[in-house]
Amino acid sequence: MLTINAERLNEKLRELAEIGKIGDTGVSRLAHSKKDKEAVLKVKSWMEEVGLSARIDNFGNLIGRLEGENPDAPALMLGSHIDSQPYGGRFDGVLGVLGALEVVQTLQEQKITPAISIEVAAFSDEEGCRFNKGLFGVRGILGKLEEGELDRQDKDGVTRREALIEFGCDPDKFKESEYNLSKIAAFLELHIEQGPVLEAKGEAVGIVTGISGPLWLTVELTGLAGHAGSVPMPMRQDALVGAAKVIVKLNELTSKIPGASTVGTVGGLKVFPDSRNIIPEQVTFTVDLRDIDETRRDEIESELRQSINQIATEHGLTYKITEDTKSEPRFCNDKIMNIMKSESEEIGINTPELMSGPFHDSLAMSYVCDYAMIFVRSKGGISHNPKEYSAPEDIALGTELLYRTVVKLVVDEHLLTGNPVVTETISF
Ligand SMILES: [Zn+2]
Repeated sequence: MLTINAERLNEKLRELAEIGKIGDTGVSRLAHSKKDKEAVLKVKSWMEEVGLSARIDNFGNLIGRLEGENPDAPALMLGSHIDSQPYGGRFDGVLGVLGALEVVQTLQEQKITPAISIEVAAFSDEEGCRFNKGLFGVRGILGKLEEGELDRQDKDGVTRREALIEFGCDPDKFKESEYNLSKIAAFLELHIEQGPVLEAKGEAVGIVTGISGPLWLTVELTGLAGHAGSVPMPMRQDALVGAAKVIVKLNELTSKIPGASTVGTVGGLKVFPDSRNIIPEQVTFTVDLRDIDETRRDEIESELRQSINQIATEHGLTYKITEDTKSEPRFCNDKIMNIMKSESEEIGINTPELMSGPFHDSLAMSYVCDYAMIFVRSKGGISHNPKEYSAPEDIALGTELLYRTVVKLVVDEHLLTGNPVVTETISF
């Protein structure tokens, strides 16, 4: 027997998917875009219906708050994001926001007054695809933005600053939207798995043990343009041939250890001047490298860098490698995981533990408070794709588990140990 209202939640998921809908099941809601704003306003209205006080801050985050009996105590934060990839699905991120909303609504219906306040957040630009840098909103409230982030441009030349202003934010007032970190007790995120592990195990819901650290690089190789008909092969400095070799090398390096959680991807590539009869002069491509084992990931990175150097020399190219994001694996809070485990037993479901390859808003939160995550099975492990699908029954079970965990944490606030504010710097 579920406490949450599964039908109500799944109906909201359907309704939000209408905003920025592509094809039958896809969604395109790029960060800070008009569609993103429309979705944020829709969820804001739902928050208000449920009795939360909701606001959109200067980073473009939507945050709703339910006051607890002790409003000065650190709050329990729940949430995720509702921005999407350009060719994305309807569950990624959205489940964590609407699931959290369902949890709060259920608490109200059950007449449970939380001892501490609960906040539901839809963080802006988790995906990072528009400005090539993700977790924007969550890093914003934590005071972890970096130099020059507002000057990053999307592929149409629109800067982050311009996009934020268009969205209705004031980038000169970021300070006003930053959090007092000691006021965050813990963060819980419900998310679709985006991978095939739960499906393979035949389980609807899993408990996340940690997030593997992503490393994002941008590699720029520069050679010399020339006529494709006249420059003899031995005299060429073809940047695209060099790039092709690097891409193959990355694939080899990340495939060599059987069963390891190492993954490497080149997902974006730009060729200049991009003409069929000119030898490519410059190629810029992205590298995404992840592993739960940080040492192994760093070893592969250094091998990759050596290969780039070697291939560049071979082809008479110069190169530049920019590090966009580098973070270490972050592990979930044991105490909250144990609560999830015993609540799973209460519900009568088996919830295997698993790692997260993709990063999430939780990754940023992990640096300032305890965090935990619940995964819901993804059909075929597919995500960042209109085919992304999680069954309504699975979604209901994951949300029920979130609800029960929240009840435990907010009724007995001592379960939350308070906040281990970390002084180490975060690099995303
Ligand atoms: Zn997500």
